[in-house]
Amino acid sequence: MALSPAMSNLSKIDPDIARVVENEERRLRENIVLIASENYASAAVLAATGSVLTNKYAEGYPGRRYYAGTENVDVAESIAIDRAKELFGAEHVNVQPHSGSQANMAAYFAALKPGDRVLGMSLDHGGHLTHGSPVNFSGKLFEFGHYGVDSESEQLDYDAVARVAGEFKPKLIVCGYTAYPRTIDFARFRQIADEVGAFLLADIAHIAGLVVGGAHPSPVEHSDIVTTTTHKTLRGPRGAMALTKSDLARKYDSAVFPNMQGGPMMHSVAAKAIAFKEAAQPEFKDYAQSIVQNAQALSASLAAGGLRIVSGGTDNHLMLVDVRPLGLTGKEAEAALHAAGIVANKNTIPNDPESPFVTSGVRIGTPAVTSRKMSASDMETVAGFILDSIKAADNESALASIKDSVSKFASQFYVPGLDDA
Ligand SMILES: *Cc1c(COP(=O)(O)O)cnc(C)c1O
Repeated sequence: MALSPAMSNLSKIDPDIARVVENEERRLRENIVLIASENYASAAVLAATGSVLTNKYAEGYPGRRYYAGTENVDVAESIAIDRAKELFGAEHVNVQPHSGSQANMAAYFAALKPGDRVLGMSLDHGGHLTHGSPVNFSGKLFEFGHYGVDSESEQLDYDAVARVAGEFKPKLIVCGYTAYPRTIDFARFRQIADEVGAFLLADIAHIAGLVVGGAHPSPVEHSDIVTTTTHKTLRGPRGAMALTKSDLARKYDSAVFPNMQGGPMMHSVAAKAIAFKEAAQPEFKDYAQSIVQNAQALSASLAAGGLRIVSGGTDNHLMLVDVRPLGLTGKEAEAALHAAGIVANKNTIPNDPESPFVTSGVRIGTPAVTSRKMSASDMETVAGFILDSIKAADNESALASIKDSVSKFASQFYVPGLDDA
């Protein structure tokens, strides 16, 4: 397979890296990508990401820069900010955080002092590293308490969260997760935050695309700060952004620069602007609805095939699949799926008896396959491949033959970034 046009010159200049890109383009075409946090950015987003805007230093904000020659990148950042305000209905937007983790770091610095108390979801119930893991800056710089899901329903119990908040008295509450398959009641979180006088941070890194597409309620009116990545369901370049109420706007901006970052990545900021334009199109609403429909179709087929779906189903783009009913650990299931050309990650399930390196579950998401225009009926085929691979986990030749079928199936579908170039 030849390199995509944008990359074809690279094979003359650096064949080693050209081969890496070419192999990755092939992998993205022939595999079924079910990593819940991944997606396929458009050719337009890739073009901006690979543009000369990467050359420019622009510390500061549009109109208030510490470098000369920013007249062009100022336009890009202003467009990105205006489009994001419109898209999310936000008062103030910062499009400079390099990643979701950094968007959260800036949120903590804007609202808190080191040592302050923060309440988030525990990591083994779906929280992110930046929600107070002891190996992450968040757990080192702030005093975190944690809430989890109910052990019966495996869903959030808001009264229980309110009780934990009342006892712990955090200065900030984090909602929004990495591995939670259900709708989040942001209005209820606002109530809980108000009861204890805490700020509310909604980290919608995973579901931002569903929010702007109308497939999940928006946290914007209920939250003091909303952070999100731009490369997950939002389908933009690798990076992040934050939406703040105007009283925290200046604090957030200075928490990003000069507190945490130097120059923004202007190629990425421009690509974010493009992604916001794409997400404002009517087709993106259809995309967001289809992600959820596909997740529900896939989880129903997997359950019918004997796997257990944590919390009994999904309202969003992902599901947690308990693979123990078919006799595997999450680690074994991940390896079997990978051998069959299906990419999903092992994941702890609530109250998992296994360690995070082994786990009892697999996290499966539909944003990427939905970008390839797979439909709910295609999800039955995908579920069949998943079930066959898990059942053939110790049979190398069976997995190789499933991989052939997966590759033939997946290669029929559109690949954003390559087929729109
Ligand atoms: C992915 C994710 C992040 C971090 O994003 P990075 O860009 O990988 O740093 C933060 N919060 C949540 C809930 C996430 O899922």
